Formats: sequence, structure tokens, C-alpha cells
Amino acid sequence: MRTPIIAGNWKMNLTIAEAIELVDGIHYGLPFPGEVDIIVAPPFLCLQKVAEHLQESYIGVAAQNLHVEDQGAFTGECSGKQIKDAGADYVIVGHSERRQYVAETDEIVNKKLKAALRNGLTPIMCVGEILEEREKGQVASVIGRQLTVGLLELTPEQVSGIIIAYEPVWAIGTGKTAKSDQVEDAHRLIRFSLSMKFGGQVGGSVRILYGGSVKPDNSGELLALPNVDGALVGGASLKASDFIEIIKSME
Ligand code: PEP
Repeated sequence: MRTPIIAGNWKMNLTIAEAIELVDGIHYGLPFPGEVDIIVAPPFLCLQKVAEHLQESYIGVAAQNLHVEDQGAFTGECSGKQIKDAGADYVIVGHSERRQYVAETDEIVNKKLKAALRNGLTPIMCVGEILEEREKGQVASVIGRQLTVGLLELTPEQVSGIIIAYEPVWAIGTGKTAKSDQVEDAHRLIRFSLSMKFGGQVGGSVRILYGGSVKPDNSGELLALPNVDGALVGGASLKASDFIEIIKSME
């Protein structure tokens, strides 16, 4: 049994007060979430406050990024060690916006996954193709490369603790959701690839989330797919009522 996950990536949105208001709204609107793991990923400046506020709650906290090193002369960066110290238990690694805007490569993703794991953080590793790659029929090779390089030198035990998010880049923040068969195909491919590299038990147990314009009106269909274990939600995670509706569609 894979426990489903609904994770909200707040990106560079919300002040501290707004962040607290949002998580309170989720709690009041959904006091008993059922068998779903719920995670929010605030910006760094809100992270500690949100984590403190959620200490006794069912909501887990993720950072949106981390540095490959644990400390040192890296102005403007935050390490896994600091993220753990601030109270988070998860970290998003390799989000397409970082791959796109700050040239985060698969090799960097690999180093970041290792940094997360050695600091006791559960990584949410993002993979997914850009539109041009889909149109050229390269979905399998792109995802295959992201997984091969990204997970290099990790043990099956380490990989079994990672959460993967399949996020077709053309569907992120665009309102264009991938069709159910496209999503299921990609998730099956990821599971197969993990099974081939790390064994059937790992392939069968890793939770694979879908991300890309998930909203209350499409979450039911997407989350019902057999190989979809939840969602990584951007825009719709900023409104408590929408986020709650998405969680409820998983139950
Ligand atoms: C994301 O940022 O991971 C994401 C999926 O964003 P959105 O839901 O807004 O497309």
C-alpha cells in the first residue's frame, strides 16, 4: 500500500502572516485528513515559522531547494543541514523552474539528493519533459536520463525513501493539464525504470506524484489513475479551499 501524498509548492509567494493564515485555513477546513500525507513547501523565509506552527499538526513541511554542500562560502544559499534545523522534513529537488532558470542539471540534482538524504530530509525529486521533447517522442529517454543520472550511486534503500514527482514542464503553471493516458504512461514508465535499476520492491513502493496545473476540477480523474500516488500542486495550493478539495478528491 502506498500512502497518497498531496504536496503544495508555494513557490515565491506569501508573507509569513499569509503563510500562517493559509495553513490555519487548511486545518480549520480539514481537521481530519484521512489516509493522505499532506505537505506544504513554503519559501525559505517562512520555513521556520510555518514548521513551528505546524509542529503538532498532520501537515509536513518541505523546503523548495537546498545546496549541494552542508555549509561554507555559498552566499545566498541554504543547506540541507539548515533546512532540517529549521524544522522541515522534506525538500523539493530538481523542480523544472530551477532546471530552467538556474540551469540545474541532472548531475546537480544527484548531488542535492545526496545532500538531502545525508541530512535526514525526504527528497521530492521532480522529473519531466519540455513540450519540444514530448513532440519529438523523447519522453521516455528524457525521464530515463533524469532518473539514471539523478539517482546515480544511490542504494535501493535510499531510493525507496524518495518521492518522485512527474511534472511535464509544459503543464506547469500553464492551465494545460496532461491527459490521463499521458500521465499514467509516464508514471508506469518511471515505476518500470525504478524496478529495473533498483528492484521490483523499490519500483512498487516509491510514491509517484503528478504535477502540472492540478485543480479541484481535474484532480479526481488524475488521482484515480493506478500509478498516481498523489499530486504536487503549485497555484491551487495557495488557496485553502482549493487545496482541501484536491486532498478530498484523493480520499
Ligand atoms: C509546481 O510548481 O510544481 C506545479 C505543478 O505548479 P502548478 O500546479 O501551478 O502547475
